[in-house]
Amino acid sequence: MLLPNTKRILLKLSGEVLMGAQPFGIDPQFVAQLAEEVKAAKNSGLEICLVIGGGNIFRGMAGAARGMDRAQADYMGMLATVMNALAMQNALEQIGVQTRVQSAIQMDQVCEPVIRRRAERHLEKGRVVIFAAGVGAPYFTTDSGAALRAAEMKCDALYKGTSVDGVYDSDPKTNAAAQRYDTVSYDKVLAGNLKVMDASAVALCRDNDIPIVVFSIREKGNLARILSGMGVQTIVRKEA
Ligand code: UDP
Repeated sequence: MLLPNTKRILLKLSGEVLMGAQPFGIDPQFVAQLAEEVKAAKNSGLEICLVIGGGNIFRGMAGAARGMDRAQADYMGMLATVMNALAMQNALEQIGVQTRVQSAIQMDQVCEPVIRRRAERHLEKGRVVIFAAGVGAPYFTTDSGAALRAAEMKCDALYKGTSVDGVYDSDPKTNAAAQRYDTVSYDKVLAGNLKVMDASAVALCRDNDIPIVVFSIREKGNLARILSGMGVQTIVRKEA
């Protein structure tokens, strides 16, 4: 299903997709493939904001589960998202796509701070803006960062590229009979605790009427298919 009047999107990529077939870290070849997909989306005329997670390197919850202070572990997770952002910036610029990385944790030597009006200007000039470090605070995730940036940059939709091809009524990994929704409402996602994004991210999208499109980014060419209204996906929105 094609979303009408989509000019500016926020594309959120889970950190784990940057691993490619590896068990950890960044696979530069797979990042290069993702960059080609982002380039094709940009060349189709879209303005693109990117948010990349950090789960391929470090998740705060995992650190806390092993005895670390949660906030400290979350800061490590945020730094991981900056590494991923730089890897994607590198891959995009190698194929001629102009980018800027803006981080919610200031790091003057490596990237810009998040400045909304400057990000706006970058988009106007045809650059892809990669927002790193989530919301810049512990106890959040990059899903919330993606929802926040989508709202403040007035994106028409939030595309969440991940390892699964949509939202299911139960976990498809453990339940072979799990059913995928084509569309589902924000409220149903929240009430059913359906694993799409954090509740805070879903609520922020709901309150700002930003549709969330969940799809698998692992298959080559899938982003283009999804953006053209084909392919397997779930759209989370108000009326479903
Ligand atoms: N994180 C955080 N605040 C944020 C965004 C991220 O503390 O605003 C930390 C948190 O520890 C999280 C990690 O960074 O686990 C990596 O982000 P996330 O888990 O969202 O990555 P993804 O699952 O998308 O790869």
